[in-house]
Amino acid sequence: MPMTSVESGNLTQVTKDVHCLTNQIVNLCFIGKADDWILIDAGMPKSANIIIKQAEILFGKNAKPKALILTHGHFDHVGAANELVEKWDIPVFAHPLEHPFLTGERSYPDPDPLVEGGLVAKISGLFPEEPINLGNNISLLPEDGSVPGLPDWEWMHTPGHTPGHVSLYRKADNTLIAGDAFITVKQDELLKVMMQTKEVNGPPRYFTPDWEQAEISVAKLAGLNPATAVTGHGRPMSGKELSAGLKKLVNNFKEMAVPDYGKYVEHPNRGND
Ligand SMILES: [Zn+2]
Ligand SMILES: [Zn+2]
Repeated sequence: MPMTSVESGNLTQVTKDVHCLTNQIVNLCFIGKADDWILIDAGMPKSANIIIKQAEILFGKNAKPKALILTHGHFDHVGAANELVEKWDIPVFAHPLEHPFLTGERSYPDPDPLVEGGLVAKISGLFPEEPINLGNNISLLPEDGSVPGLPDWEWMHTPGHTPGHVSLYRKADNTLIAGDAFITVKQDELLKVMMQTKEVNGPPRYFTPDWEQAEISVAKLAGLNPATAVTGHGRPMSGKELSAGLKKLVNNFKEMAVPDYGKYVEHPNRGND
């Protein structure tokens, strides 16, 4: 299936009813049509107005989604969540294992500033001071894999990058929204807004604590053989470019995705120090 790629500014039409908005360094998705749409992820902090404006361009004045679905709770994916929920009065859904990180109960493991390709200096200025707390507005994704408001989609548990990370999949046209389970940009270009070279890559290194699970999740998504994929970072990809990229990543996961050094990487030669 060819990707339409109708681009206006930072918006890309990915399929008939899936639009991807690039918000600084991160992507979020609008799925559906006027009066019947869902928002996937909530961008960077302070981006509520940009998201609301984009929604109104797509779906008309005062457009509001039926729900917000979170792939995971990292700050660059939940930045505007509280403001959007307040304005729109909508439910937010996430995986049960992600809940503690969305209600202030738990913090994610510390980012690894020394990881290969970690780019801490560039990204640290973007960190919010407080972890997000969505309080009572957060609901559990249904156990049967269905996605509230999106009857032809299913969610899949794809942990590794975070414990409760999910990806969304629509079988009818083989469309995947992968969150940060894998990304389509080179790790060292992750934070560049312009000139991002397309390349299927493992999850963002700086924030990924469980590489074993991350590898299993990538294999699971590659096994779907998606025709089109939107990821949390990088441009949407489709067709052969995507399938070849995923195959290469699965076959070379340790070399391509797992950093050579970093605190969440095992050191087989170092013993128990
Ligand atoms: Zn993330
Ligand atoms: Zn991310």
